[in-house]
Amino acid sequence: MLYDLAAFFSQAAAPLQQRMTWLMHYAAEQRLACYVVGGCVRDWLLARPVGDIDLVVEGDAIALAEAWTTVWPDQLHTHPPFGTATVSWLDAGALVSLDLISARRESYPQPAALPIVQFARLADDLARRDFTINCLALQLANQPTNVIDPHNGLVDLQRGLIRVLHKRSFIDDPTRILRALRFAARLEFRLEPSTAELLQQGLPWLDQTTPARLWNELGLLLSEPSAFKALSLADEWGVLQQLCGCAWPQALNHQAQCLLPNLPNEQLAISWLLLMSQLSPNAAQAQTKRFGLPKPIRQAVGQWHALATTAAMLNTTLSAGKLDRLLSPFEPLVLQVWASTQTPLVQQQIAYYLQALRPIASQLSGRDLQAQGIKPGPEYKTLLAAARERQLDQFAAENPNLC
Ligand code: ATP
Ligand code: MG
Repeated sequence: MLYDLAAFFSQAAAPLQQRMTWLMHYAAEQRLACYVVGGCVRDWLLARPVGDIDLVVEGDAIALAEAWTTVWPDQLHTHPPFGTATVSWLDAGALVSLDLISARRESYPQPAALPIVQFARLADDLARRDFTINCLALQLANQPTNVIDPHNGLVDLQRGLIRVLHKRSFIDDPTRILRALRFAARLEFRLEPSTAELLQQGLPWLDQTTPARLWNELGLLLSEPSAFKALSLADEWGVLQQLCGCAWPQALNHQAQCLLPNLPNEQLAISWLLLMSQLSPNAAQAQTKRFGLPKPIRQAVGQWHALATTAAMLNTTLSAGKLDRLLSPFEPLVLQVWASTQTPLVQQQIAYYLQALRPIASQLSGRDLQAQGIKPGPEYKTLLAAARERQLDQFAAENPNLC
């Protein structure tokens, strides 16, 4: 079947369309073979929204990018060791980037290490890729062309299969295990049986991979709409056990889905906290530190286990003042996520605290105490806490319908 890239780009935003029209002419003029490859071809053929566009050039992608920026006022970033360049421009306030890649061959000096790179032909470039569905290419040309499909990716795309290109794939680069999870969950694809076996054999190599490289993929996986599905699969495939010694029981999927509507921008924190809740406090801290998670999530993990020590108290009905005193040291995010794992009474008390009590400003301040002639000192804390407790108990008595 023939595919018309010109027609495809004619549906794109004007700035991208203009650049691609220029590139088609320039490539023809310079006799430079350029190909659209990887995820964007896969997504186009699946009729899914196309994200970033990757272009492979049989030749010097950096020289091409430099020619590009003589015509277009775009930002240019080059990565000479890999022969790649990124051009980016603003379109209606949003940054659009396009990667230009010199076709290359890669060899792995040792498992899980970064590869050694040599410039090569398109076929070599496709052979270094992760899965057959990701090594499809279309030549940038002004007329319809066939999909270049040296590894039978089209058939796998139709059958919904994730298949590696060779037996050592997961050992060479164990981050592909996380990529397989991401695509399986997102596209609802299955692992082809021998790939599933190879993935199992590759699991121990995750330990040899740097946390930064693992997090590159893990962070992406946890930020996708299909993150919770991916975590279930990661549990099923033994990836979570290998990666951080924990599980993702089915019940967590339900909890995570219930939390998301109230915390729509916190998917990464929700999934990480629920995952870490399966570990001991020390192990959870160690994993969070190892992957270098952002500070608010690190703090939340620290608070989670301190909060767990209050569970018995929260399972009895507390006065508004006591509830506030107990819960005020904790971040709202950690309270909400932790509550989802607790009994209805605990959930109800935390919701009451967050919605009704926490927003109330204390009537009494240190200044008031000073004005009363009390000398500043450690007892201020006790006095202010006692005053706030009384204030909130009074609030609760006056607003019984809010409890
Ligand atoms: P997404 O839609 O999430 O962007 P993608 O397939 O485009 O998915 P990218 O991470 O953007 O994935 O990478 C672009 C292409 O580079 C992939 O389609 C794949 O061919 C190749 N690739 C990326 N990471 C690897 C890897 N670890 N090993 C082999 N090939 C890879
Ligand atoms: Mg991509």
